Amino acid sequence: MGKVYLVGAGPGDPELLSLKANRLIKEADVILVDNLVLGVKKLIPGGKKVIDIGKAAEKHKFSQDAINTLMVELSSKYDKVVRLKGGDPYVFGRGGEEAVFLKERGVDFEVVPGITSAIAVPASFYIPLTYRGVSSSVTIITGHEMEEKEESIDWDAIANLKGTLVILMGVGNLANNVDNLLKHGTRAETPVAVIEKGFTEAAGIVVGTLGNIVEVATKEKVKPPAVIVVGDVVNVREKLM
Ligand code: SAH
Repeated sequence: MGKVYLVGAGPGDPELLSLKANRLIKEADVILVDNLVLGVKKLIPGGKKVIDIGKAAEKHKFSQDAINTLMVELSSKYDKVVRLKGGDPYVFGRGGEEAVFLKERGVDFEVVPGITSAIAVPASFYIPLTYRGVSSSVTIITGHEMEEKEESIDWDAIANLKGTLVILMGVGNLANNVDNLLKHGTRAETPVAVIEKGFTEAAGIVVGTLGNIVEVATKEKVKPPAVIVVGDVVNVREKLM
């Protein structure tokens, strides 16, 4: 039986990969990649067996169950199976579920943390998530919950945080997310930044307020993947540009 490595590929810049992730990419017998690993694919040596789950998933060839099962199958054939996941494996993206699936089937596995887009993408556009006197906490939520039907977000609590709110997977559902925050008491003047395609040539930021960000993002045709930052730290950007 081989071992499965759930490896964080970072936010897209190959230089933001950990040394361990880089070593495992070189040593792997087979690598499973998804759409979020972008530039990191360049580090994969030629001739390596690569399975592109992202493209296949778009064509609905791979469900999450199929990915889980595939990892188990590959671990019985190969010594080192690397599952490269965008950002950090345990920040959304079902890394935790994949780990539990492997554990339950007795497959040896290891998680290699990565730099999450939740922190790195705002940083790449001059937004520090915490700042003395402005924000002393960060909360990361999924903006996708409608589709996942998890009703797990306590919007009343989230809307009244004093700190920074980071929303991943929130673009498709932006109007609903904004609505929930406003309805539960976040100020309409709260600064909001939406940063799309971080660490790629197409990277871009739009800035507004909770009151107008839906309009601004629609006008600018913001597309996923994007990181949404809600909070006064968005204004710190002006000091750093
Ligand atoms: N595990 C990943 C997140 C997976 S959820 C991590 O730690 O970064 C996928 C979401 O992450 C996307 O919908 C988007 O909100 C965000 N994301 C990931 N990479 C991104 C990038 N390069 N630019 C902007 N957003 C990104």
